[in-house]
Amino acid sequence: SEERSLNFIEQIIEEDIAAGTHGGRVLTRFPPEPNGYLHIGHAKSICLNFSLAQKYGGKTNLRFDDTNPVKEDVEYVDSIKEDIKWLGFEWAQELYASDYFEQLYQFAVQLIEKDLAYVDEATPEQIAAAKGSPTVPGTPTPARSRSIADNLDLFARMRKGEFKDGEKVLRAKGDLASPNMHLRDPLMYRIKHAHHHRTGDAWCIYPMYDFAHGQSDSIEQITHSICTLEFIPHRPLYDWFIAQLGIFPSHQYEFARLNMSYTIMSKRKLIQLVQEGHVRGWDDPRMPTISGLRRRGFTPASVRMFCERIGVQKRDNLIDFSLLEFCIREELNKTAPRVMAVLDPVKVVITNYPADKVEILQAENNPEEENSGTREVPFSNTLYIEREDFMEVPAKKFFRLGPGLAVRLKYAYVVQCETFEKDASGNITTIFCRYLPESKSGNDTSGLSVKGTIHWVSAAHAHQAEVRLYDRLFSVAEPGNEEGDFKSFLNPDSLQVVENALIEPALTKARAGDRFQFLRKGYFTVDVDSSPEKLVFNRIVTLKDTWAK
Ligand code: ATP
Ligand code: MG
Ligand code: MG
Repeated sequence: SEERSLNFIEQIIEEDIAAGTHGGRVLTRFPPEPNGYLHIGHAKSICLNFSLAQKYGGKTNLRFDDTNPVKEDVEYVDSIKEDIKWLGFEWAQELYASDYFEQLYQFAVQLIEKDLAYVDEATPEQIAAAKGSPTVPGTPTPARSRSIADNLDLFARMRKGEFKDGEKVLRAKGDLASPNMHLRDPLMYRIKHAHHHRTGDAWCIYPMYDFAHGQSDSIEQITHSICTLEFIPHRPLYDWFIAQLGIFPSHQYEFARLNMSYTIMSKRKLIQLVQEGHVRGWDDPRMPTISGLRRRGFTPASVRMFCERIGVQKRDNLIDFSLLEFCIREELNKTAPRVMAVLDPVKVVITNYPADKVEILQAENNPEEENSGTREVPFSNTLYIEREDFMEVPAKKFFRLGPGLAVRLKYAYVVQCETFEKDASGNITTIFCRYLPESKSGNDTSGLSVKGTIHWVSAAHAHQAEVRLYDRLFSVAEPGNEEGDFKSFLNPDSLQVVENALIEPALTKARAGDRFQFLRKGYFTVDVDSSPEKLVFNRIVTLKDTWAK
């Protein structure tokens, strides 16, 4: 990999190792909430956590942050594991915050015993009002002066299920005058009579993020707990709980979350696109989800390269989607076999080529890859080319076909257009050409030099395929930051389906997940919707950078 200077987290880790902190041990974790499919923002966090551990001889835990029973599901647990594996990482342990519910409960009891937590029956509105504002100190609610014994009793009864949802909460006894609002007696537990996807009905009280996360890190002895910038104001609370409990001192570090143009990075919003049918599912190739990118044809290496290139920042920024496209192009240019497919076919008849003759041409699979071999491409007197490669009245510098113009057919011959036919509505139906027998590719003795080379398929040998062309999911750069419903900014043309593209016969052996360069058209992958009768291709990316311009 490329030489680069250390990012700020690597610097911290190297200092810790040099100082012998935690015996020089590095243990990170990736802590998804299983309430949706992972997106490319999570990929950044995964790459960061796993690569840091790899680089410093450490390990990474996968911990499901499953403290909110209502929105969580095993479907999401499974998809998250699949996505991490696909990215190429192996976690040391698969863990669940819900496995710590008993331990977290005991931690809460310890804090009550130290008079550092209390049960409050004030309503959310009363609690909010009593908290004050950053400039106005908070005031205690009546419950704050309750005795330790009464708090222990009430908290035990909360657990037993004696109260309804929202009737009581457990709060930390923090500092009601703190300029940091998170320290003004934050909630630790709430009552929720809900079925949990792992613990079932064992619990009706659930810990809040702030009380679960740091303690879970500590239980696992995580050395570097890396999260996004919005958690900076939570860090004093993270440290406070650990200090008061006297448990392993995990430490939180924050980096800038990934934001990407023309898409959104929020499971809460992505789930709306799925549930309301704006896309075909979590793995719709237009989605910024890891499963969507995978189906679209992105490779694990391209996603990892993207995450490495964007680096680790301390300030929020907006990354252009075209950087991810650059990464996949870099890779596929070297690895993807070249093939010919015509997306918008128009017929060409070669008038001086025998009607009953079929020539089998040898086509190189990939000029960028040594030993990639050749394949057989049949050539005959009736072909299809792209409609856009012909102009009835050729523009200046149009080096393709038009009356009198000559062009090279890739791997084959130079042909010159003589005439053409149109239908009643003026569409070109057939182009008539002559070919130059002595201009055969690899053995050209014609002495002719033509500027353009175009792709084609032989009419009798081509197969039909469906091709799906994708564009940005949203038509504005920052749909999440616009006023109004983000869904009103969906790009209505984000999917264009070409029902009857024509592909060269060698392609019919392709399997779901295979990737190709369709000459001049971009990189494509075979979609899982393919059937033996008809292949379906997704365009991964065009050949040239057409985005962000
Ligand atoms: P969302 O708002 O999409 O639900 P989240 O942060 O609530 O995201 P989690 O499942 O809690 O989702 O995230 C797991 C980990 O991934 C966290 O450590 C979180 O900080 C990180 N993460 C989430 N989104 C991004 C992002 N856009 N860029 C970098 N890291 C992210
Ligand atoms: Mg979260
Ligand atoms: Mg979330």
